[in-house]
Formats: sequence, C-alpha cells, structure tokens
Amino acid sequence: MDIKKRMMDLQQAIEKANYEYHTLDRPTVSDFEYDLWMKELIELETNHPEYKNPSSPTLKVGGVVLDKFNKVVHDKPMMSLSNAFSDQDLLDFDERVSKEVEGYSYNMELKIDGLAINLKYRDGIFISASTRGDGLVGEDVTSNVRTIKSLPMKLSEPVSLEVRGEVFMPHKSFEKANEERAKEGLELFRNARNAAAGTIRQLDSAIVSSRGLDIFCYTLVDAETYGVKTQSGVLNYLSQLGFKTNPNYVVAKNIQEVIEHIHRYDVLRKSLPYDTDGVVIKVNELIKYEQIGQTVKYPKWAIAYKFAPEEVITKLNAITFQV
Ligand code: NAD
Repeated sequence: MDIKKRMMDLQQAIEKANYEYHTLDRPTVSDFEYDLWMKELIELETNHPEYKNPSSPTLKVGGVVLDKFNKVVHDKPMMSLSNAFSDQDLLDFDERVSKEVEGYSYNMELKIDGLAINLKYRDGIFISASTRGDGLVGEDVTSNVRTIKSLPMKLSEPVSLEVRGEVFMPHKSFEKANEERAKEGLELFRNARNAAAGTIRQLDSAIVSSRGLDIFCYTLVDAETYGVKTQSGVLNYLSQLGFKTNPNYVVAKNIQEVIEHIHRYDVLRKSLPYDTDGVVIKVNELIKYEQIGQTVKYPKWAIAYKFAPEEVITKLNAITFQV
C-alpha cells in the first residue's frame, strides 16, 4: 500500500466529512465510518511521522464558524475527546494516566449526542451562550439557547460562572420536527444530533423555540475556585444551582470497574428518550488534571468510549473511497 497516498486520501475524506457534519449539519457518512478513518489516520501518523501534515484534521477541533453569527473567543478552549473503541483501548488509556498520577478514580457519564455549548452567568443570571466552533472561537447563539425551557435563566445562588453542556434534541422532538418538514416538503433531518445542531445555528429564535431542544450540563470551568474537588462534585453542584444534569453517572474505583459499567451503559442507552453515542470517562479528581495534561485537541485525563453503532447506514457507506 502507498502509505503516503492513503494518508492524503484519509485526510481529504475526513475534511470533507467535517465540513458536511459541522458546517452543513448534513453528514454523508456514518459516525462509525468517520471514526474508523480517524483511527486509521492517527495510527498512520504515529507510525509514519515523516508524512504527517501539520494541518492534519487529527489536530483540529470541530468545524468552521458561520459568518451569520457574531464570533465569541472562548476564555478557555473547548476541546474534543479522544476515543476508545474496546476494553484494550481503555486499559491503554488507564496505563497512560497511571504514568502521570496515582490515587485517582474515574467518573463515568453518558456521552450525549448533541452539540457542545458554553454558557455564561453573571451574579446568577444567564448572560450568553456560544457554540464550540473550532474550539477557540465559537458562534454567539444566546437568543436561541435562551429558548431552551430546561435552562435556568436565574441560578439558586448569585454566582458568576462558565458552564458547558450538550444541547440535544429528544427523540419525540426529532420525530415531530421531521413530520413537520415532511408536510412542508423539506429535506428530513438525518438524525437528532444534526437536527439539534442545525436548529441552534439558525437565525429565527421562534423556530428554535418550537423545536423542543434540551440541554444536559457537565462542565464547570475553573471548578476548584468554587470549592468543588471532583467531577462527580461538579455534577452535584450544577444540579444544586438549577442546571439539568444527566442522572446516569457513576464513580468507578479503577479501570476494571469502568469496563464492567460500560456494558451496563450499552444496555441502558437503548431505553433512553435521547441519543447517546458512548460513555465519557473522566479522572474524577480535578486536582490531577494539570499534571496529566492535554494535547492541542483533547485532554489526556478523559476519553470517550464509543458504542458500536446499532445500525450502519449502508447506503451512505457506499461512498467509502478505495485505495
Ligand atoms: P466527540 O463528539 O467524539 O467528543 C467530544 C464532544 O463530546 C464534546 O465536545 C462534547 O460536545 C461531547 N459530550 C457529550 N457528552 C459529554 C460529557 N458528558 N462530557 C464531556 N463531553 C461530552 O468529538 P467531536 O470532536 O465533537 O466530534 C467528532 C465526532 O463527531 C466523531 O467521532 C464522529 O462521531 C462525529 N463526526 C461525524 C462526521 C460524519 O461525517 N459522520 C463528521 C465529523 C464528526
């Protein structure tokens, strides 16, 4: 196989898929296939660094920021997550963590299949919301996010803070949105994730309001300054403040416990009224994060375990390129 050509082909295919997914909200390949391409490119770049392109998609977060929105520079970058697809990947992740720190546990949370949003509150009052964008600069979607009924406009304490969460479209809202689009002869949304992303990035807040979006919050920026010491503590504190947090989280003592829980999550997700595409495993003790560190794209103290897809979109897969 011509390795260099394969790497260039993968890069091109991933960039095209990124544009369709993040900018157009209209993917033409399945997430599963995309993840396989990315995994292969990362492996090839690791084994053949001489062919690695400095602008490789393996180094970039998300997509292009749309001009129709005001731009927001994030105070702290909004990162992606590295992926695990097997128990062995989780064991390898734990080995890397254990080389940096000791005496840690893991917090496990559902990976909600939506889009990441950054929220700002001043003295307990909601002031703004932005998309992740390319990780450094996002889009100002304040008036759209304001329409999400479960998002508190006023917190239970007059604190100033920055919180991150996932906006998603529950199954019921997704079905209703597509029924309406069918009646109007419009192209149907491919899936709930793209429907949520497309909805939040459109200009008419009245339409956003009618689409029944929801949000789960999971990150408190600079959590330790609020006296919170663990990721499970973050979820409790956010919930006390009035944010909607996902109740399906659990602290695992070690990676063996993580692996045991993963299989339960894989059963649980099939009964949930919203889409999840995996489990996010984060070192629970926030104080260890700095020592474990991060790459330009993702923190090294967390990993997303991706579930095998329930159905592979074979029609879309037909466009897979050949070497
Ligand atoms: P990601 O979706 O794999 O993981 C990072 C994101 O997970 C975070 O930004 C956050 O939004 C989200 N998340 C959900 N629940 C979370 C929780 N509890 N804690 C922390 N984060 C949580 O990575 P990504 O960079 O956003 O996107 C890459 C993924 O998007 C790919 O793996 C693929 O699945 C999909 N994708 C698909 C296509 C396609 O054409 N089908 C193209 C590009 C990307």
